[in-house]
Amino acid sequence: MSEIQSTCCYCGVGCGVLINSRNGRITGVRGDPRHPANFGRLCGKGQTLHETVDGHGRALYPELRLKRSEPRQRATWDSALEHVAARFADIIKKHGPDAVAFYISGQLLTEDYYSFNKLARALVGTNNIDSNSRLCMSSAVAGYKATLGADAPPTCYEDIDHADCMLIAGSNAAWAHPVLFRRIEDAKAKNPDLKIVVIDPRRTATAEIADLHLAIQPGTDVALFHGMLNALLQEDLTDPDYIAAHTAGYDALKALVSDYTPDFAAEVCGITTEELLTAARWFGNSRAALSLYCMGLNQSSSGADKNAALINLHLATGHIGRAGAGPFSLTGQPNAMGGRETGAMANLLIAHRDLNNAGDRAEVAKLWDVPAIPGRPGKTAVEMFEAIRRGTIKAVWIACTNPAQSLPGQDAVREALAAAELVVLQETYADTETAPYADVLLPAAGWGEKEGTVTNSERRISRVRAATPPPGEARPDWRIVCDFAMLLEHKLHGHASLRFAFDSPQQLFNEYRELTRGRNTDITGLDYATLDTKGPQHWPYRIGARQGQPRLYQDGKFPTADGRARFAAVAYKPVAENTDTRFPFRLNTGRLRDQWHGMTRSGRVARLWGHAPEPAVTLNPADLARRGLASGDIVRLESRRGTLNVIAAADSGVAPGQAFLPMHWGSRYLSGAGINALTLPVIDPKSFQPELKHCAIKISKAALPWRLIAFGTPRDGDALAQLARVQAWLPEFEFASCALMPDAGGVLLRAAAGAAPATDVLDAIHALLELDSGDVLRYDDPARGNARRVCIDGERVVAVCLSGEGGSESWLREFHAQGLPAAALGSLLLAPGTKAPAGAVSRGRIICSCHGIGETAIVSALQGAAGDATARLGSAQQQLLCGTQCGSCLPELRKLAAAAMVAA
Ligand code: SF4
Repeated sequence: MSEIQSTCCYCGVGCGVLINSRNGRITGVRGDPRHPANFGRLCGKGQTLHETVDGHGRALYPELRLKRSEPRQRATWDSALEHVAARFADIIKKHGPDAVAFYISGQLLTEDYYSFNKLARALVGTNNIDSNSRLCMSSAVAGYKATLGADAPPTCYEDIDHADCMLIAGSNAAWAHPVLFRRIEDAKAKNPDLKIVVIDPRRTATAEIADLHLAIQPGTDVALFHGMLNALLQEDLTDPDYIAAHTAGYDALKALVSDYTPDFAAEVCGITTEELLTAARWFGNSRAALSLYCMGLNQSSSGADKNAALINLHLATGHIGRAGAGPFSLTGQPNAMGGRETGAMANLLIAHRDLNNAGDRAEVAKLWDVPAIPGRPGKTAVEMFEAIRRGTIKAVWIACTNPAQSLPGQDAVREALAAAELVVLQETYADTETAPYADVLLPAAGWGEKEGTVTNSERRISRVRAATPPPGEARPDWRIVCDFAMLLEHKLHGHASLRFAFDSPQQLFNEYRELTRGRNTDITGLDYATLDTKGPQHWPYRIGARQGQPRLYQDGKFPTADGRARFAAVAYKPVAENTDTRFPFRLNTGRLRDQWHGMTRSGRVARLWGHAPEPAVTLNPADLARRGLASGDIVRLESRRGTLNVIAAADSGVAPGQAFLPMHWGSRYLSGAGINALTLPVIDPKSFQPELKHCAIKISKAALPWRLIAFGTPRDGDALAQLARVQAWLPEFEFASCALMPDAGGVLLRAAAGAAPATDVLDAIHALLELDSGDVLRYDDPARGNARRVCIDGERVVAVCLSGEGGSESWLREFHAQGLPAAALGSLLLAPGTKAPAGAVSRGRIICSCHGIGETAIVSALQGAAGDATARLGSAQQQLLCGTQCGSCLPELRKLAAAAMVAA
C-alpha cells in the first residue's frame, strides 16, 4: 500500500487529496490534512474519486475510422497520430491554419494546457484554441481586466476568516464549492456578527445561511450593484480617499448610477428597496467586505459587465487589498485558472499577455523562437462550433471535454460535429456524448495517473501526482500533444525542431515559467522541488521570493498604465431572451450537490446518485398547481431551439414563473439531446461567454400515456455495465431516463411514450434487467397494455419491470432498495395499483450521502428530539451520524431542523 499527495480533479476549490494504491490499483482517497485549501476536508465527490478510475467506460486504446459510416477500429498510437498529422497537414496546406481548431478543457493540467497552446499558436499558426472554461470563467477574466487591469483574483481563502460582510452573488457555494462553504460556515459560527448576503433568483442551500437573501429577477445583477452604489453615495459610505488615490473613471460611473436610485433598481430586480438598502449599508459599513461570485454572474450575455459592476462596489468603498476584503471570483473547474495563466483561450495570450497587442505577440514569438504569433482573432467556443457547422473550420481536436453535452443549442452543435471533416477526441472515457462523433479517439490518462500542476481559485498552484500508471495504452495529455506536434511539424516543414521535445511535464512547467518572467503571473521563483517541499503556493512567486503572494493590490497599485484601477460605467442590459406568452417561464440552470458537469466521472459512482436520484426540473409548487401538474409528472419543456421531456418536481425555493434544471443531464441519462437542447447560444460581446443561465421556455404536461419503470440489481453485480446497456435504449422512447441506484447496486430505467412500443423492445428491456429467465413472476394483460415482471431471489426483490398502468412502483422500489422480504406477497407484487404493504416505509431522498441516511429517518429523529433547531440537529446527528463526515448535507439538515422546530 502506498499513499501519494495529489489534488482533487473536480472543482476550483482545489482540495488536496492523499491517494492510496496497492499493486498498481487506486484503492482509496482521503483529504490531505496539510493542504491549505481544505486541511483534510473533502466533499462527497472528492471522497469517492477512487471509484471513478476503474476500467468501466475508459478509453484504453487509440481508435480510428477512415469513413464516417464505419465504426472505429483499434489502432496503434503510431498509426493514429500519423493519420491525424497527415489530415491536419493536408487541411492546413489546402485551407490555411484557421481551418483547424482545438477545443480543450479546464480539467487539463497547466503543462497540458501549455503544450496545446504552443502547438496551436507556434506550430499550426492559429488562435483557434479555446477552453471549456469559456463556458464558466471568461466573464470573470473580462471583468477583472476591465477594472483591475489584469485577470487576477486579489483575494485568498483566508479572507473568509477576516471578512465581516460577505456578498455571495450567483453562487450556490454550498453545493458547487462544498469545502469552501464549510469555511464560510465556520466563519459565521465564530463571528455571528458576520453579515452574509446571498444574491440568487433561487433560494438555494447557500441562501439558508444568509442574513439577507436577495431573490433578484434573473440577469438583473448590474442594476442591483448600481443601485447599491447609488445608496452608498447617498449615505456617504464610499471611501473618497481611496477613490482619489487609486482609481480612475469615477465621475462617469457616478453620473451613470445617479439614474439607478434604490427604488428604481429594486423594482428592476424584483426586490424591496429596504432589502437593497440593507445590503448596501452592511457592505458600506463593514470593516472588510468580501464578495464571492460564480456562474450566476459569468454565464450571461452581460457577464463581463456584471463582474465589473460588482468590482465597482469594492473600489468605491476601498474594500480591496486588505485582509477579508475584495472581489473573489470562484472558479468552476479544477484548473480553469491554469488555462487563463497559460493563455489557452482564443482571445488570450500566455502569462496574461494581450493577443491584440503586437508587442506581446512579438515577445511570445521570440521566446518560442518562431517568426510570429498570428494576430487574427481565434474562434471562441460557441463561435468555433458555428464555424465548424458552416465548414470554415474543417478539423477539430477536442480534449477532455464533452461539447455534445455541455454547449448550448445542442442541435446546432451536433450538426457541427457531424459536418466536420475530422473530429479528434482525446479523452479519458470512451462513452461520452461526444465520443460517437470522433473519427479518432486518443486515450488519455486520468486523475491519479498524471503528473503536473493545477491552480485553484485563490491563485494557489498545487502538484498533481500519479499514484498508478494509466490503464491500457492511455497516455498523459501533454505527451500526446508533443508526439503529435513533432509529426505535424515534419509534415508541414519537412523537419522536426526541438520545440516539442519534452520528456516530462516538469520540462514543460520550466519552459512555461520562463514566459511568466516580469509578468503579473511571474512564477520564476517556483519549481517542482519547491512545491514538493513547501507545498502549494500562490502566484506571483518571483525569483528570490520565500513564498507566493496571497493578496494583491495591498499598496493600491494596479497593473494599468497609470497604476490606477478603472471604474466601469456599464449600463444594465436585460437577459438576451425574454419571456412572452408562448415561452412564459425563465429557465435557470446550475449544479447539483453530488454531480459534476456532464457526469462523465461522477455519474459512475452509485453513492453520488442518492441525493438527486433522477433527472428532474423543479418548479414552484404554485406553478405546478396552476398548470394542473404534480411532482412526478412527466412534462415537456420547449424553448425556441429544442424540446426535452423530463419529470417535474416541486421546490418552493424556485420563484414563481421560473424553472430550474441541473446542468448535468445529457443524452446518456435522458432521451433527447439533454438540457442544452433548450439553452441559448447567445454570447457576451466582451467575454464571449454564452448565457447558459437563462432562456425562455414553455412547460406542458407530456401526453405520453404509456409508462414503464424498470429497476434491478444485475446478477454479476456489475451495475455500470448494465447502465451502459440501458443507455443504448434511451433513444427508443419519447421520454426515458436512467440512473444508478445507490442502495441496491442496480440501475433504474423510466420511460414513457404515446403508445406501447413493439413487443421486441419490451422483450429487450426484460432481457436487459434479466427478467427473461429464472424465478420471474409474470402478469400480462395486452388489452390494457400491462406487462409486469418481478424477479424474486429467495426472499428479496432483485428486478422489476412494470409497463402499462403503474401504481405500485414506489413501494416495490423500497422493497428492492432495502432488501425487505417479499416472497410472501406473491401475486400482490403483480397487481397494478396496489397499495404499499406494511413495512414498506420510504427512506425518502438520501440527504447524507456519506452515511446513506434518508430524509424520513432524519425528519423522524429531528421531530423526536427536544430543544431548539440546533439542539435537535445535534441529537439527530448523534443518533444517525448524518452530516458528521463531509458536511455537504449540513445546509439541508439545518433547514430540516428549522422545519421540525416550526412543526413542534
Ligand atoms: Fe473536490 Fe469537493 Fe474539494 Fe471541490 S470541494 S475540490 S469537489 S473535494
